Amino acid sequence: MSDTIFAKIISREIPAEIVFEDDLCLAFHDVSPQAPTHILVIPKTPIARLADTTDEDQALLGHLLLKTREIAENLGFGDAYRVVINNGEQAGQTVFHLHIHLLAGRPFHWPPG
Ligand code: AMP
Repeated sequence: MSDTIFAKIISREIPAEIVFEDDLCLAFHDVSPQAPTHILVIPKTPIARLADTTDEDQALLGHLLLKTREIAENLGFGDAYRVVINNGEQAGQTVFHLHIHLLAGRPFHWPPG
């Protein structure tokens, strides 16, 4: 867990285009964007999946969502954006450090596939 690519971004071992950082989280552009704007919001604490969170993570999870909303608004996407968390391999998770995808800048359809 501690040597995921996102842990290396947190420790600045590998570069990322960071858009926001505070004590609890880091937000940066996805290297393979699925929309004109595609940001990942991650906790600094190493949690592998949403499924691994507990009631003790309530404040952290709230913080991540509120920061996601703030980042969307600051980028001018307050009215239309999509927020995604892939949990587990079969749901499309490839990096096992919890992350929120913030996608914006194009229309989105449902179901997501
Ligand atoms: P997921 O498939 O939900 O686990 O999402 C992982 C995301 O991380 C994908 O959208 C990747 O494009 C993205 N990603 C992988 N490596 C990097 C990196 N070094 N910098 C930024 N984003 C990355």
